[in-house]
Amino acid sequence: MRLTRIMNQCHPIPGFVYQRASFADDGKHILIPVRPRKRSRAICSGCHQPAAGYDQSHTARQFEFIGIWGYLVFLVYYMRRVDCKKCGVVVEEVPWGTGKHSLTKVYMHFLGHWARKLSWKETAEEFRTSWDKVHAAVAYLVAWGLEHRVLGPIRAIGVDEIQYSKGHKYLTLVYQIDLGCTRLLWIGKERTVKTFLGFFTMIGPELSGKIEFVCSDMWKPYLRVIREKCSQALNILDRFHLVAKVNKAVDDVRSAEAKQMKRDGYEPVLTKSRWCLLKRPENLTAKQKLKLRDLVRYNLQSVRAYLLKEDFQQLWNYVSTAWAAKFLDAWCSQVMRSRIEPLKKVARTLRAHRELILNYFRARKEFSSGVIEGLNNKAKVDRKSVV
Ligand SMILES: [Zn+2]
Repeated sequence: MRLTRIMNQCHPIPGFVYQRASFADDGKHILIPVRPRKRSRAICSGCHQPAAGYDQSHTARQFEFIGIWGYLVFLVYYMRRVDCKKCGVVVEEVPWGTGKHSLTKVYMHFLGHWARKLSWKETAEEFRTSWDKVHAAVAYLVAWGLEHRVLGPIRAIGVDEIQYSKGHKYLTLVYQIDLGCTRLLWIGKERTVKTFLGFFTMIGPELSGKIEFVCSDMWKPYLRVIREKCSQALNILDRFHLVAKVNKAVDDVRSAEAKQMKRDGYEPVLTKSRWCLLKRPENLTAKQKLKLRDLVRYNLQSVRAYLLKEDFQQLWNYVSTAWAAKFLDAWCSQVMRSRIEPLKKVARTLRAHRELILNYFRARKEFSSGVIEGLNNKAKVDRKSVV
């Protein structure tokens, strides 16, 4: 195969040689063996200096490379060990990989690049790899970035959680969302107080003390850490999470009502109505518009919930914090009288977080709402949302 020549051209590895590539037994993977150049010295993984050779492993390690033409590509290498004067007998360091990662650095950069444009899930699907590997790639790049750049000053951060492994596990992500500088700063396991405190330990008290805006959802541990570590900052609840809560309630009303109607033997008017009720009117297809027009003729709880949801959208048009507050209070009171239990629950939550919600309007004067939207878009892609 001529692949070796291409590899030498595109991804040469000093001190190593590519050997003849072949298909794996299952015909689905391409394997490219790599061997050390003759008389080249291995690098000690402890002190990163060349060291005397000791021995070589009998089992090959595979490092995943960027796939080509729909095939997964792996570099295959028998790791050497060195006898380092400083570190003793340790495994060598290879320039294309890092630590125990099974992905090559170049593949992690590749995945990380796409993970900025697509959601992690989409990236994994697009390149036939797993969510965990995309996560590993992003975590590697973030760590790499932290080592190779100056952090501060940071004016605004956004904290967000990602659910994975069928929703049983969480990661906490912290973004810098300054104007002209939005980047993923940090990834932590779980979404506890301890997790988020880890971020503030990483940046230190001086940088923390200068943060002016923190954008978050209503997750209690996050709110607590923000109060403790960033008391000077304005905590903004991000708009996406609030809208998602209202939408979720509308969807619950609709599905409960649809079931009830079916049980009672009514005409199934709510079938296929889900997106009519959840999408913004301007995004509806012609067919969905007709369906919605048909629906509003019935005195359904779903329709009333829908109208309240649409009404809630007006909140974001307010410029004045005082008027936004008036609207929010009026909306909550109206919902509390509606006897629509899922929405009432949302209204109670909104009331409990009234000040934080209003911070959105306080911040908007100084802080571009475009940046807040940007964060919301990031959050949206990895969530099973109904927006
Ligand atoms: Zn060493």
